[in-house]
Amino acid sequence: MLTFDNVSLSYGSFLALDGVSLHAESGELVVLLGANGAGKSSIFLTASGIHKAAGGSIRFGDKELVGRKPSQIVANGLVQCPEGRKLFPQMSVLKNLMLGAYVHRGDKAGNRQRLEEVMALFPILDEKKDDTAGSLSGGQQQMVAIGRAMMGRPKVLLLDEPSLGLAPLVVKQVFEVIQRINKSGTTVLLAEQNAYAALKIANRAYVMERGRIVLEGDRESLMNNEAVRRAYIGA
Ligand code: ATP
Repeated sequence: MLTFDNVSLSYGSFLALDGVSLHAESGELVVLLGANGAGKSSIFLTASGIHKAAGGSIRFGDKELVGRKPSQIVANGLVQCPEGRKLFPQMSVLKNLMLGAYVHRGDKAGNRQRLEEVMALFPILDEKKDDTAGSLSGGQQQMVAIGRAMMGRPKVLLLDEPSLGLAPLVVKQVFEVIQRINKSGTTVLLAEQNAYAALKIANRAYVMERGRIVLEGDRESLMNNEAVRRAYIGA
């Protein structure tokens, strides 16, 4: 469904992605592991058309994404929930959520129905819909960020470090929600530092180092991989 083939990306003279190949098939939950600066966000930003790949191809279904505008990419069903949430803190929860539906703004009935689904996924956001996003707790703000991405009607959802900075109990809730989203039919590509929790819900995973994929495998093989355990799980 989403396939990176030998993708490279440079920031000036710095090669941030060096021949990255990976794929996520329909219905899968695929995890991207890697230390800070390995290139996980760069993968997402390139898929979303925010950065333009210097080489290689990114295919989404039968479409080539390299060269397309971010708005076209979202309209096609590849939607990103960025690292650090990037909410508008002075705006209400509801307005933040509705921004995610911008590319579907002509379809008011569809957006109303989608909003109901997002509120069912996150009942707390229904209660707090008129509060400013900035007044919510960190975990609730992460729910708004995920909910906003869901308003974009993703076929593939790119989640960049959704558990960053959250308390353990809240992290658990976030991973439960991600699993529910995936089980209801959305393909998920999840970048995480929280390797154990991410692998537990993954079908497959990739490990990145310095702009390259250095390891890939299914959940069991990576969970049991000695190098992965030492570097990312700490056991
Ligand atoms: P993190 O979890 O810290 O965001 P990451 O794995 O997502 O890490 P990236 O954000 O993709 O990594 O960064 C990959 C490399 O590219 C890092 O060395 C980073 O400093 C560099 N980098 C990222 N964005 C830019 C930019 N806009 N200009 C220059 N260098 C950048």
